[in-house]
Amino acid sequence: MDCFVLGIGGMMPMPHRRLSSVAVRTGGSIYLFDCGEGTQVPYKELHLGLRNLDVVFISHLHADHVLGLPGMLMLRAQMPDPEPLTLVGPPGLSRFVKNVRADLRMHIRYPINYVEWTRDAGDVAFEDGNVRVLWHPLEHSVFCLGFRLEEHIRPGRFDPEAARALGIPPGPLYGQLQAGKTVSLDDGREIRPDQVVGETRRGRHVAFVTDTVPCASMQPLMHKVDIAFVESMFLPEHTEDAADKKHMTCEQSAQAALEAEVDRLVLLHISPRYENRELKRIRKLAQAVHPRAEVGREGQVIQVPLPS
Ligand SMILES: [Zn+2]
Ligand SMILES: [Zn+2]
Repeated sequence: MDCFVLGIGGMMPMPHRRLSSVAVRTGGSIYLFDCGEGTQVPYKELHLGLRNLDVVFISHLHADHVLGLPGMLMLRAQMPDPEPLTLVGPPGLSRFVKNVRADLRMHIRYPINYVEWTRDAGDVAFEDGNVRVLWHPLEHSVFCLGFRLEEHIRPGRFDPEAARALGIPPGPLYGQLQAGKTVSLDDGREIRPDQVVGETRRGRHVAFVTDTVPCASMQPLMHKVDIAFVESMFLPEHTEDAADKKHMTCEQSAQAALEAEVDRLVLLHISPRYENRELKRIRKLAQAVHPRAEVGREGQVIQVPLPS
């Protein structure tokens, strides 16, 4: 699994800082989280390719999270035979896209499926052969969703030594056992999968949490994830601004990640009021709370190893 940091800015794109967006690539598919103004530029620079981009998750309907969607939809319309696209996000997402499509007379030849949050939607926003993605409302100035992507559980490791010791002939029986089926040998013995296959292993877990004040629903989203991308709009001297504008300081973000036992924390959504030279201070303050905190870098590619 690779995570691509497309930008780390909040509010507006700046000459030196693009808006917060993360692409997660696993199992040959790309899952894009948020698409603010200009997101298609770093997306292209990172050579992510549009063929495998089938789902975009939108946290909320603020310009810095959604305004890049029309450009992304048009970019995707340029490739031959595009597959259907799924857009997952807050109520009103389909209205926004449908209006902009009509007003700008956008020619999009592929179907768009909309998955909008509703009160009785349940925890699972999306699921395919690779992953499932959970969603929870956060606490922001407008309705806003946080996401948690989980790779499916992987089957346990097959132990060829144990199989040989049991006298199982190599071949299709190995595959059946690995797939969890009990098999019968020619001598009449039955072999259960747990005799030759180790315990199932969890896949990798990623959280994407922006924009919000510290709130309870962040915890299940971030609980023990391998990597969390979390907003960090303000420095601690602007804690009041953070509360007023429904954002977090770097210390609050790190504290929430610490409580959730996040392994690696990547901070995003930095206020445009801070110059890039202040990013170091943001990192240091966050690291004083969560030792594996860092500020994301534009264009950064993070390989997330499988849990041992
Ligand atoms: Zn924002
Ligand atoms: Zn916002």
